[in-house]
Amino acid sequence: MTREDIIQKFKSLKVWKRGNKIAPHKPLLVLYAIGKLRRGENRLIPYTEIAEKLTELLREFGTDQSKPRPHYPFWRLREDKVWKVTNANLIGQTPKGDAHITDLKHHKASGGFREVIADHLQNDSSLALEISENMLDHFRSSIHEDISQAVGIEYPFHTLNRQKRDPNFRENVLRAYEYKCAVCGFDVKLQHQPVALEAAHILPREKGGPDTEENGLALCSLHHKLFDRGVFTLSAKLEILVSEYANGSTGFGKWLMRFHGKKINPPQSQMYYPRINFIDRHFREEFKGPYREKT
Ligand SMILES: [Zn+2]
Repeated sequence: MTREDIIQKFKSLKVWKRGNKIAPHKPLLVLYAIGKLRRGENRLIPYTEIAEKLTELLREFGTDQSKPRPHYPFWRLREDKVWKVTNANLIGQTPKGDAHITDLKHHKASGGFREVIADHLQNDSSLALEISENMLDHFRSSIHEDISQAVGIEYPFHTLNRQKRDPNFRENVLRAYEYKCAVCGFDVKLQHQPVALEAAHILPREKGGPDTEENGLALCSLHHKLFDRGVFTLSAKLEILVSEYANGSTGFGKWLMRFHGKKINPPQSQMYYPRINFIDRHFREEFKGPYREKT
C-alpha cells in the first residue's frame, strides 16, 4: 500500500450523515488513534479505553450530547479498510451491523490501524499530519485547535493550502455591527483599533458558509468561542438561546445566562441581518441543544 493509497482511504472514509449533520465519530477516533501513534504508544487500543476517551471527545465536539456511542466507529471503521479489531470473529452484531458492547468487553477487543497503515503513520510525520488535517476538515476550522489539543496532535499544520478567505470579511462584519459584540456589546479599543472583537461565521466556511455580512456576527472572543462550540445559538427572531448542557458558576450567569432569551444587538441595516437559513443550520447542526427554558 502506497502513501497515496492511504491518503485516499482516509479521504473516502464513509462518514455517516443525517441531512447536513455529520456524525463526528470516525474522524474523532482516527484523530485519537493518530495522536497515540505520534506519542509512540501501542497501535492496539483496548475497547474500554476508547469507550472512555471517545465518549469524552464526542461529548465535547459532537452535537448529540445524550448518546455518544463510541462502539459505532470502533467497529465500523473496519469497513473503510483502515482499522482492525482483535477477536472480531467472536463479536456478535446487531441486525444493523454494529457490535454488541457486551461482546467487545467480554472478549477484551482492541482496535487499531492496520499494521501497514500504522507503520506509515509512525514513520512519516507529514502523512500523519495530512490525514489529521483531513479529519479536522469535518469540523469547523475555529475548533481545529481545540480538537488537536484534546487528542494530543501538534497544531497548526502547514501541509495543505487552505481555502482562501475574503480579507474584507472581518471588516465588513464589524462595521455592520458598529464594532461591538452582538451579544454583550464589548467594544474595547487600543487607540482606534478594536481588540478581541471578531467576525464569526454563522454557517462554517467548511460547510459552504459565505464570507458575507448575512453569514456573519461581530462577537467578542469569548462569545465567538461559545458560539462556535455550540454553547448558545440564535432563534429565528435573533434571540440568544443557551444550551441545557451549559453550566458553571463564575461567569456563567454574567456572561451567558444574562443574555438567554434576549435579542442580539442587531446590525445597523436590514440588509446585513443574519439569513434565516444560516441561523437555522447553526441551530440544527452546530448547537449543542436542546436550549434551556425561556423565562
Ligand atoms: Zn461578547
